Amino acid sequence: MKILVLNAGSSSQKSCLYEISEPRPPDRPPTPLWEATVDWTHHQGIAEIEVKTAKGETLNLEIPTQDRAEAIARMLDTLWEGKTKAIDNPSEVDVVGHRVVHGGQDYRHSVRITADVKAAIDRLTQLAPVHNRANLEGIEAIDRIFGPNLPQIAVFDTAFHSSLPDAAAIYPGPYRWVERGIRRYGFHGISHQYCARRAAQLLNRDLQDLRLIVCHLGNGCSLSAVSGGESIDTTMGFTPLDGLMMGTRSGAVDPGILIHLMRQEGYSVDRLDRELNQESGLKGISGVAADLRQIATAIETGNAQAQLALDIFIHRLRSSIGAMLASLGGLDALVFTAGIGENSALVRALACQNFDFIGLKLEPEKNQDRPVDRDIAAPDSKVRILVIHTQEDWAIAQQCWRTNHQVQ
Ligand code: AMP
Repeated sequence: MKILVLNAGSSSQKSCLYEISEPRPPDRPPTPLWEATVDWTHHQGIAEIEVKTAKGETLNLEIPTQDRAEAIARMLDTLWEGKTKAIDNPSEVDVVGHRVVHGGQDYRHSVRITADVKAAIDRLTQLAPVHNRANLEGIEAIDRIFGPNLPQIAVFDTAFHSSLPDAAAIYPGPYRWVERGIRRYGFHGISHQYCARRAAQLLNRDLQDLRLIVCHLGNGCSLSAVSGGESIDTTMGFTPLDGLMMGTRSGAVDPGILIHLMRQEGYSVDRLDRELNQESGLKGISGVAADLRQIATAIETGNAQAQLALDIFIHRLRSSIGAMLASLGGLDALVFTAGIGENSALVRALACQNFDFIGLKLEPEKNQDRPVDRDIAAPDSKVRILVIHTQEDWAIAQQCWRTNHQVQ
């Protein structure tokens, strides 16, 4: 079965083609036959397309367009044409899986995309304007290129958190908020779920018996508390702005600050949106960059604001780990994933430092040794500490297979 995955971000579009030839998906991700990315971030109005194949062919293209559908069409041409060709024609694709950021309250599992599902994703653009719109454009582009009979599956980033108990999901505002769907949805669910399953494999334990905290620390950051394979608490909320400090997002701040800025300083909604989403977090405090690598370099040259940014990031990470710990009532493994979680030994060490009291003990050499899908806890640690390379695209392909075979 050939599964094409589309993973749309705000300014990029990733895609890959997997082949699952076994009776069920293998536990470890196979190398995609073909992978491509469209990126709009570097030059205004130019889509940069990068392609590589399992056979080692690569291709770089620059196309003057802002139009997502056109860029997707050009990207997909490289799947069946030219030196990066991985299939002879589009009809070889059996199913297309899309990461859809917001599934609201209705979508607890992946679903085959129908006119109703499209309408629901469209309605939910109110809650995730940039992402859901990009997802919908991707779905429509596939409809045009492959025709309406090719099955398309929506895999929702919110679905894994649909198991949150009401006490964790509902904000203590007026009850009418609840009636209007204003609640904690949580995000990065595809990654959290993948890491929870992978943690059980690495520990050789049944997921049903495990209490896990998954720290997804990338440009966006969120934690989840996973008990018996279900998400029971998470730090992102109604939008991906809640919770931890992030690359450019503030994370949770006193909502009274927003009232103050609007009332005393005449802030518009757009300005608040821009400052909270794009000018805050590591970038906002350090004044250097959103990227932790650049902040670490600035710290080495004595930059005090860069040090402050890291200190706040760690403070908030530790206090949110503490909150997840309290929701779980115990812990079998702390999992680090995504750009920062997988690559920053410093962040992992600092995050773990204050949890000696629960018997959580890092092995410094293992932590420094560029671990991938490894346990980095000391042998006598009471809690395992795992670094897992998140594989969202593979998780989407697995979900497509399961949805197509009607197993969840
Ligand atoms: P992601 O959103 O998962 O792609 O993560 C991107 C972020 O990971 C970057 O903005 C960096 O802050 C961080 N990152 C990536 N590589 C490293 C590294 N080697 N050391 C520290 N942080 C890193």
